[in-house]
Amino acid sequence: MDKEIIEKIEAYDYIAIYRHVNPDFDAFGSQFGMYDIIKTTYPDKKIYVCGDFSSELVGKYTVAVNYNEVDYNNAVLGIVLDTANRERIDDENYQRCKELIKIDHHIVVDSYGVINYEDSTASSASQLVSRLYKDNDVLKISQDGAAALYLGIVGDTARFLYQNTDVRTFEAASALLKTGIDIVELYNRIYLKNAKELEVNKFILNNYKFDGGVAYYVLTNDDLKKLGISRERGSDFVNVLSGVIEYKIWLAITENVADNNWRVSIRSRDFAVNEVAKKYNGGGHALASGAKLNSIEMLPKLIEDLKELINE
Ligand code: AMP
Repeated sequence: MDKEIIEKIEAYDYIAIYRHVNPDFDAFGSQFGMYDIIKTTYPDKKIYVCGDFSSELVGKYTVAVNYNEVDYNNAVLGIVLDTANRERIDDENYQRCKELIKIDHHIVVDSYGVINYEDSTASSASQLVSRLYKDNDVLKISQDGAAALYLGIVGDTARFLYQNTDVRTFEAASALLKTGIDIVELYNRIYLKNAKELEVNKFILNNYKFDGGVAYYVLTNDDLKKLGISRERGSDFVNVLSGVIEYKIWLAITENVADNNWRVSIRSRDFAVNEVAKKYNGGGHALASGAKLNSIEMLPKLIEDLKELINE
């Protein structure tokens, strides 16, 4: 598989790198990390990153990427990171690529690449990209690229806490550390918060609801405004409700007035929530899934489905 991926990269002069919509640390980490590996190894290739880059998370990464428009008149290879199905690829122009490589760690639902490097037992797409770098001497990486991948791994494992962390995760992290990255500085980039965020925690702890083992908070557009946070950040606080013995499943529900729907993030320690997420325009991982509600009226039904899952 590695050989095929590297041969494909070597065969193209133009490479566009995609990831999923609503990007998180792993989506950006794997995208910027992959960009950096290709650019550092093959400086003459034209490499692009694609998708929406208005998220505040972009500022956490230091890889100097090329945001220019892709010229699809050339034969372009698309590499899609961390994206289970083609509907979630950020930037529909991926369809104009001559060929696609998929590199992902979600449960397999859509193998849309000519090469599909899929491993749902891996902690993160960033881990898969790091392993590719680690096991192939031909591939080079800069410290900025290694930092991006480290942020991706840390983001999806919550600092090596979740059960998706295994020997391969530490081996990948070890290869990145060997480049000389400063991990304390990287943890500060992710975890240092300002007082405003403490206010969000306070709001959530004062207002969250619980019902039969399911705990959740709802942030309306008015709440977001009052708290001074963007809707993209609404799910970031979902783990304020984690680690509580009584709460088996916990959720964040955030209003998205732009799209006229509600974004849902679902987390659990023990219950595979992805099948329920699928019923609500979502999916993801067994213990971390996302979904969308067209109306807040659908929330009680979702909570009932999750309670049923716990009681099954
Ligand atoms: P989130 O709650 O948005 O952090 O997402 C948790 C996981 O579920 C991530 O791996 C996402 O890629 C995935 N996910 C989130 N929303 C959706 C969706 N609407 N459809 C499929 N997968 C999703």
